[in-house]
Amino acid sequence: MNKGGKLIVFSAPSGSGKTTIVRHLLGIEELNLEFSISAATREPRGEEVNGKDYYFMSIEEFKKHIKNEDFVEWEEVYRDNFYGTLKKEVERIWALGKNVIFDIDVAGGLRIKKKFPEQTLAVFVKPPSVDELKRRLKERSTESEEKINMRIAKAHVELATAPQFDTIIKNYDLDVAKEEAYQLVKNFVNPAENQ
Ligand code: 5GP
Repeated sequence: MNKGGKLIVFSAPSGSGKTTIVRHLLGIEELNLEFSISAATREPRGEEVNGKDYYFMSIEEFKKHIKNEDFVEWEEVYRDNFYGTLKKEVERIWALGKNVIFDIDVAGGLRIKKKFPEQTLAVFVKPPSVDELKRRLKERSTESEEKINMRIAKAHVELATAPQFDTIIKNYDLDVAKEEAYQLVKNFVNPAENQ
């Protein structure tokens, strides 16, 4: 499993705005991107759709995939909340002749970079501060106070991994961050056109 298009990883603490940036990039046709739909064991939130946002599955089913070595990478991101990228998903996107874009946690992002060093652009999205992160998660109000605190506790650890990424985008102003992300990805997927 080492062929096909480029791999673009966006990782960040929950609430940093990486999902918004990834959605923005997906709307830009010239980048030829397709979203990597992860397997996940948590409950769907709000408008989320199975097979579009995630492949939602039981913990038992997820563990079966681990045993069968079906994952490129997987993580127990929060306790009993498993997330992972299925090899089949990456192959599906490569078969379409497209580049893969990932919205995954920092450990998973770094693992993909390590597995496919030349093909991968690993981007870390940095929030202005942990306080701002907390404010955004509360504003989103899709989770309980307890879950928000769990995400904040993890954010401190995640922020420390930023230097291991190819590049860091500071998301202080969303429009600036979106433009920066576009330029980075454009240069990575079509290097010849930008000389
Ligand atoms: P959420 O529950 O907010 O959708 O996602 C929680 C965290 O899990 C986010 O940081 C998200 O990027 C990450 N995540 C989603 N899919 C994957 C995956 O396939 N692998 C890994 N390692 N993390 C993932």
